[in-house]
Amino acid sequence: PLVLGIETSCDETGVGIVRGRDLLANTVSSSMDEHVRFGGVIPEIASRAHLEAFVPTLEQALETAGVTLEELDAIAVTAGPGLAGALMVGVSAAKALALATGKPLYGINHLVAHVSVGLLHHDGAAVAGGLLDADGRAADGLGALLVSGGHTEILRVGDLAADVALLGATIDDAAGEAYDKVARLLGLSYPGGPAIDAAAQGGDPAAFRFPRGLSNAKYMGSAEEPGKHRYDFSFSGLKTAVARVVEAYEAEGEEIPVADIAASFQESVVDVITRKAVLAATENGLNTLLLGGGVAANSRLRELAEERCAEHGIRLVVPPLSLCTDNGAMVAALGARLVSGGIAPTGLEFAADPGLPVTQVSLR
Ligand code: ATP
Ligand code: MG
Ligand code: FE
Repeated sequence: PLVLGIETSCDETGVGIVRGRDLLANTVSSSMDEHVRFGGVIPEIASRAHLEAFVPTLEQALETAGVTLEELDAIAVTAGPGLAGALMVGVSAAKALALATGKPLYGINHLVAHVSVGLLHHDGAAVAGGLLDADGRAADGLGALLVSGGHTEILRVGDLAADVALLGATIDDAAGEAYDKVARLLGLSYPGGPAIDAAAQGGDPAAFRFPRGLSNAKYMGSAEEPGKHRYDFSFSGLKTAVARVVEAYEAEGEEIPVADIAASFQESVVDVITRKAVLAATENGLNTLLLGGGVAANSRLRELAEERCAEHGIRLVVPPLSLCTDNGAMVAALGARLVSGGIAPTGLEFAADPGLPVTQVSLR
């Protein structure tokens, strides 16, 4: 099926078009530059930027794909989770398009959409290297690690259309959010991820031993008796620990060792994320792990994830970065999967749901 996908859950306005598993267009406009001086995404600014960017982004995607709205089989839009006002812009636009064209409309889950890029063929290659079938199933178990400015989650994906479970999630800050906040403490620019990644290249990851959140026996338990937070994350204590170190240097009037702190902070984040993801995968029989979200760009995360997955016989799928960060193609990919699976469209009577649980793949 020929499906158009619309994404506006955070600061990216994305419109993607797929034909079955083929990616025809993936146009993204980001308002990130407008959030720089605030050091984080400001919801009102993001919403207004979506309003301004939507029509040009749609037109560009249609032109790139060489298709018209009339040719579409369906339209899909991110219904949640995400920022309420931002989601509402995309949902309203999608409803207007569906109403005007008479096309079926699917309100879909943003997190499941991130995993759906594994279905796509892009630049002549399968994103997941042939590991996923047309239904989005991996023969020997599929897991996903989503790490972005708003999310840090480990998912078990039985069937992209009907069976997705949350194995673990952050109980406070998201990984990308921790990068952004720590970058601020270190006087680095927003977004903090790339800035810390770069600063860390010249630093010693063992210079400071920062806390690994929810990683001691009390939270992890054992394989026989898993702790409540075995696969969960916490990054707020880490952020506080970095703040203390920075304050101590400032109090002494000494120069802050930015590279060492950046490298040590990064090591703590990446160590916990990869350790818990690999543990969740092995304990749940998931032999393929797909990485998604903007933090997937992190050089140390990629390195350690490769290393630890290889050690445990897990095949790691790292999609091209344009498909890891928020985009419309992933929404279209999930929409196409739902159409193929005969899942009923949502229709026009639904509202965006900022807290949509991952178990709900599409609204009905
Ligand atoms: P959502 O959470 O809804 O998926 P988002 O806009 O918050 O959306 P993305 O756009 O996917 O998230 O990613 C942005 C985040 O990724 C920022 O927090 C940024 O700091 C982080 N990031 C980008 N590059 C890197 C990197 N090299 N290392 C670590 N973090 C990075
Ligand atoms: Mg973003
Ligand atoms: Fe996202």
